[in-house]
Amino acid sequence: MSKRSDVRQRLGLRPIINVSGTMTALGASIVVPEAVKVASEVLPEWVEVNDLHRKASKAIARLTGSEAGFVTASASAGITLAIAGCMTGPDLARIEQLPDATGMRNEVVIQMGHMTGYGAPIEQAIRLAGATCVPVGNVTDARAYQLASKITEKTAAALYVVSHHTVQYGQMPLDVFARVAHDHGVPVVADLASEYDLKGFHAAGADLVIYSAHKFLGGPTAGIVGGKKNLVRSTFLQNSGIGRGMKVGKESIAGTIAALEAWEKRDHAGIRKTEKSYLDLWVKRFAGIEGVTATIIPDPTNNPLDRLMLTVDPEKARITAWELADQLASGSPPVIVRDHEAEQGFFQLDPCNLHPGEAEVVADRVVHELGEARKRNRPQQYSHAERKARRFERLLRWPD
Ligand SMILES: *Cc1c(COP(=O)(O)O)cnc(C)c1O
Repeated sequence: MSKRSDVRQRLGLRPIINVSGTMTALGASIVVPEAVKVASEVLPEWVEVNDLHRKASKAIARLTGSEAGFVTASASAGITLAIAGCMTGPDLARIEQLPDATGMRNEVVIQMGHMTGYGAPIEQAIRLAGATCVPVGNVTDARAYQLASKITEKTAAALYVVSHHTVQYGQMPLDVFARVAHDHGVPVVADLASEYDLKGFHAAGADLVIYSAHKFLGGPTAGIVGGKKNLVRSTFLQNSGIGRGMKVGKESIAGTIAALEAWEKRDHAGIRKTEKSYLDLWVKRFAGIEGVTATIIPDPTNNPLDRLMLTVDPEKARITAWELADQLASGSPPVIVRDHEAEQGFFQLDPCNLHPGEAEVVADRVVHELGEARKRNRPQQYSHAERKARRFERLLRWPD
């Protein structure tokens, strides 16, 4: 059991170690102490929430190079509200009319290869505003003339997604996408939920930028919206409309400001060095184990973060990548790896969310489970498709 706190034990939860990344399903991130402190301090106090949002606007402006900003429930909420803001402008009657978009521009153009999901389909975040999604191009190829041809007098916004979830080739870069949108007078909303670069996307043409507070920033669960002041205002005003159900509390607004300020002061080089030491440790521990290959790989969207890719040869290791991931997740302590591509025969270890000492435990657990697999000598008990089906069955049985 962890020496840090026994809260998980008290709550009857497993003491998981997360090497999968900043996952909502695992509690999003290790929240930085500055955000924890201010959240607990503000919780018992009355505050004027829109004034707190004004403070957030200043912090977001400074950190992201935006003119203004505010905090909402999540990046997903930010996408819905940003689209709504582009549809209604600052018109309160229109804001109350949504999601009925009668009389408003209500189409959102998006490259088909960006129509991803992050636990829910992004297309649904668009529809929640009362808009419809207009895909551009095909999954692996989208071009400027195709975007131009999809923009009509009904187009409210152009949505651009930066994420490892999108197709990683054949898409228009943001500057090309934004130039076409701007030529037609259409604002560009950029979903940057998981990106470290807080400033660069405005320069590339984003009018509204959306980040998660609870990913690399280590803030409380929240979404950050920044951008041109008039668009941010129209987006903020959705709090009197569809945004009411996406409400964020004072603790998350104050916590997000604190996380942004902590980000400014963070020892980024020191953190990278620590993460590198975890990666080196894993490479060393897994070298020479038959059937597995450990490779350090860069982040696919150029965030300053490397991960360890562990490729598993089921013939030699006597276990498949997904079964190894399951063994790690079900053993003690449970280790949750980054396994969304496991059907291709590998998973990853993400070093960015570890408490001291956990990298060693992860190494021990992997070595142990590979040894057990060798002893059992029964390669592939179940296919990846069976595993996936079982996961959905389990979800559908909730709360059982
Ligand atoms: C995580 C993520 C989201 C959702 O962010 P939340 O703040 O959890 O709602 C949206 N888009 C991308 C690209 C993401 O990575």
